[in-house]
Amino acid sequence: MSNPSVPIQSDPSAHSGVKALKCRECGRRYELLAIHVCEFCFGPLEVEYDYEVIGRKISRKSIEAGPVSLWRYKDLLPVLGEPTAGLHAGMTPLVRADRLGRALGLKNLYVKNDTVNHPTLSFKDRVVAVATTRARELGFTTIACASTGNLANSVSAHAASCGMECFVFIPHDLEAGKVLGNLIYKPTVVSVKGTYDDVNRLCSEIGAEYPWAFVNINIRPYYAEGSKSLAFETAEQLGWRVPDQVVVPIASGSLLTKIWKGFHEFTRLGLVDENPLLKVNGAQASGCSPVYQAYVSGKNHIVPVRPNTIAKSLAIGNPADGFYALDVVGKSGGQVEQATDSEIIDGMKLLAETEGIFAETAGGVTVACLKKLAEKGAIRPDELTVAYITGNGLKTMEALAGSLSQPVSIDPNLSSFRQIVNPKS
Ligand SMILES: *Cc1c(COP(=O)(O)O)cnc(C)c1O
Ligand SMILES: [Zn+2]
Repeated sequence: MSNPSVPIQSDPSAHSGVKALKCRECGRRYELLAIHVCEFCFGPLEVEYDYEVIGRKISRKSIEAGPVSLWRYKDLLPVLGEPTAGLHAGMTPLVRADRLGRALGLKNLYVKNDTVNHPTLSFKDRVVAVATTRARELGFTTIACASTGNLANSVSAHAASCGMECFVFIPHDLEAGKVLGNLIYKPTVVSVKGTYDDVNRLCSEIGAEYPWAFVNINIRPYYAEGSKSLAFETAEQLGWRVPDQVVVPIASGSLLTKIWKGFHEFTRLGLVDENPLLKVNGAQASGCSPVYQAYVSGKNHIVPVRPNTIAKSLAIGNPADGFYALDVVGKSGGQVEQATDSEIIDGMKLLAETEGIFAETAGGVTVACLKKLAEKGAIRPDELTVAYITGNGLKTMEALAGSLSQPVSIDPNLSSFRQIVNPKS
């Protein structure tokens, strides 16, 4: 690993590999502006790259000489100049999880630990680093988002560190830790009496009226690309290999599709050998599982649901990229699983007790679904498997109320202590 003080090596005048925005449905191309839907067919826009140009610039060596952050993969991210926000996001630990693996009957298991991402302890710091940098390149001075919690935390922190105006919109029933994790940075926090899906719809209307960078609406094509860094880091940290199985939590479905895209870009550029085995599995809470429902019923469209789950960060009833996530799962031969609230809590506890990692409810969803996939043989014991743990448990403490044993209480003397260590003596 390189020295973090080494400056980012890149020549801003060099021809960039970032080409255009392209409609996922009709293929029409657009300039690299703050737009996210096709004017002709309303399909979502995605960043298109010139892999010939990127291939001439990028190598394992060039990446290894880069900063210890997701910006080491800058050639594959949709910014034109140097990063100006989120300089320390990414390069979180890939933890070999032998004790969790033993509990689940898996011999080759890793956990990608984004509970310690910088600065706000969730995977959202990746997407916000990219979105904020791009928003500033486009000249925005106000940044905003519709959030299930973690996104608002990250947008608030990045806005503070860049001196930008900031509006974050959240559903009214978020966890205390997530709300406080906005307020401390002093953005305008707007609590909306409705679900995330209501918040999102409202923000689309606000975005049409105010000239703001909504990171997951008009800046979404750039924002979403930040998630690819989870695949890039995984491959690099595995010694330039693509795993056989990944398990990814689904909210809007964007993260899952971008992990797939990231592994494919690395393969296409010859940075890793192709792994035709790679299966992408999705994880949802049963209190909000529209993608799982579509998967099990064999439909290829998503029927929106009204969320009711402790996994609030994944509580999107009408997921924007749900269809594309389903498509990736199907193409790769993976599966979608779901977990009940009590299975989510058991998942959080199992991860903590075996690996010493305190994840939020979304991490509990991932572990619970990983367990089900292992139990039914969808993941075989020897397969190289990576589970994505995307947020920190200190932000969702109320989910554990009543689920943990209490401290052992003693009087301040040795005999009182001896009794609890060896009560029979
Ligand atoms: C936002 C979020 C996700 C999933 O994000 P999508 O890209 O919308 O599917 C997963 N885990 C956590 C903790 C999140 O905050
Ligand atoms: Zn189109």
